Amino acid sequence: MANKNTKLLKHACKHIPSGVNSPVRAFRAVGGDPFFIKRGKGPFIWDENGRRYLDFCASWGPLIFGHAPEGLLKRLARAMKSGTSFGAPTAGEVELAARIHDFFPSIEKCRLVSSGTEAVMSAVRLARGFTGRKKIIKIDGGYHGHVDSLLVKAGSGGATFGTPDSAGIPEELAALTFTVPFNDFEALEKIARREKNSIAALILEPVPANMGVVLPAAGYLKRISEWCDDQGVLLIFDEVITGFRLAKGGAQEVYGVRPDLTCLGKIIGGGLPLAVFGGRADIMDKLAPEGPVYQAGTLSGNPLAVSAALWVLDELGGNNFHKNLNAKAELFFDGIHRTISENALPAVLNTSGSMFTLFFTPDPVTDYASAKKADAKRYARFFHHCAGHGLYFTPSQFEANFISTAHTETLLNRALEVIDEALEN
Ligand SMILES: *Cc1c(COP(=O)(O)O)cnc(C)c1O
Repeated sequence: MANKNTKLLKHACKHIPSGVNSPVRAFRAVGGDPFFIKRGKGPFIWDENGRRYLDFCASWGPLIFGHAPEGLLKRLARAMKSGTSFGAPTAGEVELAARIHDFFPSIEKCRLVSSGTEAVMSAVRLARGFTGRKKIIKIDGGYHGHVDSLLVKAGSGGATFGTPDSAGIPEELAALTFTVPFNDFEALEKIARREKNSIAALILEPVPANMGVVLPAAGYLKRISEWCDDQGVLLIFDEVITGFRLAKGGAQEVYGVRPDLTCLGKIIGGGLPLAVFGGRADIMDKLAPEGPVYQAGTLSGNPLAVSAALWVLDELGGNNFHKNLNAKAELFFDGIHRTISENALPAVLNTSGSMFTLFFTPDPVTDYASAKKADAKRYARFFHHCAGHGLYFTPSQFEANFISTAHTETLLNRALEVIDEALEN
């Protein structure tokens, strides 16, 4: 049988740089040709060769209900009939903004945008406009989309390709961004002493997922939140992955920290392009046209994406949603932990809620430096063994994988057998 993935890639490379619309899709970290996906249903995807995979990548986070859930398809079909874009306000977006506030009490006001990158870019501009300060602090290996100011020691694609800085970003702009290691409070204080009253914001993923999943040390998030208050620095939580994933109210609910601004994306759009930035009303009111900070978007609050989001929030709002999902994930994680410890394998499984990363390193992974010690070749072997047996994990080690409601216990137990083999060989 002709390999359709290979054929498509060849054609794609003629018209699309590297044949892909986002770098990590090119499988450079694990080698081999990327899968071209034909369709998805429930926990599965099928590639163009007709091979089926149990999907742990979940479109990099959005698909907490698996692929193409019936309820969502129905909701979209209905919404579509009324039009696909108006460039004018609709009742749906007002309802959505109000409901986002119910899930995230810290988001007193919000604006809807079309991608996580756009949400973060807007939040950073707003923080600068509100504080009148220029500099920002981010975390080493923290990823916030391809925002110029934040492609400085960014994880994921950056970490994988060894190009933490991108060409095309002026040094003068990058010089306004400081980076500190995750879980290192002292590093923050050191910058504060040097840069008194010039830091607009500290932006971070409260539970980093783009250097692989890494957990905040006890008290770390509370401490930095107090520090931000002290310094007049706005705290921006990038919950594009963790929002709606770890709990209804994201990591800020789990850790009891109230950021000034929050960015959401991925899950909320149900697989359609929708993201959110929002927070304190006094800050959000600085946006145009009332305020001096400009921000706009032709497709912002797109009615199809909004109808998808309203369906997502309906489903997530049920009792014990996250409790049940996390309990199922926990059983699966226990299985992997068991294999690692029984065989004394040099591997670490980091997990939070229903997301996880398997690092091939014997030492704890607590920040970007310790994540980077993981063995990329070993991961590539693991990835291909699993793919050969019908499991699709992220084609890079420095990413989060996800369990969805569509992953049944039976499927997860079967997956564990493949993972055991992959780990032991
Ligand atoms: C995916 C991601 C982004 C960027 O979102 P896009 O929709 O890809 O632009 C920003 N921040 C975090 C934490 C992400 O995981």
